[in-house]
Amino acid sequence: MARTIEPDCRQCRREGCKLFLKGERCTTKKCAMERRPVIPGQHGNSKRRVAFSEYGTQLREKQKVKRTYGILEKQFREYYEKAKNKEGATGAQMLIAIEQRLDNVVYRMGIGRSRKQARQIVNHGLITVNGKRVDIPSYSIKVGDVVAIKENKQDNEMFKDLKGSKIVMPKWLEFDTNTLSGKILALPTREDIDADIKEQLIVELYSR
Ligand code: SF4
Repeated sequence: MARTIEPDCRQCRREGCKLFLKGERCTTKKCAMERRPVIPGQHGNSKRRVAFSEYGTQLREKQKVKRTYGILEKQFREYYEKAKNKEGATGAQMLIAIEQRLDNVVYRMGIGRSRKQARQIVNHGLITVNGKRVDIPSYSIKVGDVVAIKENKQDNEMFKDLKGSKIVMPKWLEFDTNTLSGKILALPTREDIDADIKEQLIVELYSR
């Protein structure tokens, strides 16, 4: 099933912010948000955004996070429901659980240039966790897990530039670009995740 019918850049324009869905292109002048930050279907003054109602604001925040991580509604809601039963702030717990997804880890380690590419890499069975192939993007990693590119896939054209490169990654992860293998050093905390996300709005939306 297609995850979304909207092209990547159009999703950013709809949310009015950069969701970084296209890898390197997102940090260049070619980024559609740099060139034309207009809401799809809206004409005229491109800088003006419509004022949202409280509900609308909550909905947009949820859509923004769903689009950023490429998660469908049903699964996204499940993250919220599980987070409700955890200790600590529900919104933060929800984000932390999402951050632990294997596709996100593959992206954060720099193996995939975008979360979308990272998900494809996982889906195609190119990743191992503790030596075993795992092709489930939502697989939740644990502390101490070893995440690597499958040995017989390391010569894949896709990883040509990755070998020996320098990658900046969150402190809870390590990845060796020579061996193409990394480790989960700790679980992510809320501080490790995009500070711009207002998860409380999502909690308010789901608590309605
Ligand atoms: Fe969004 Fe990246 Fe497209 Fe820019 S280039 S609009 S950040 S997907």
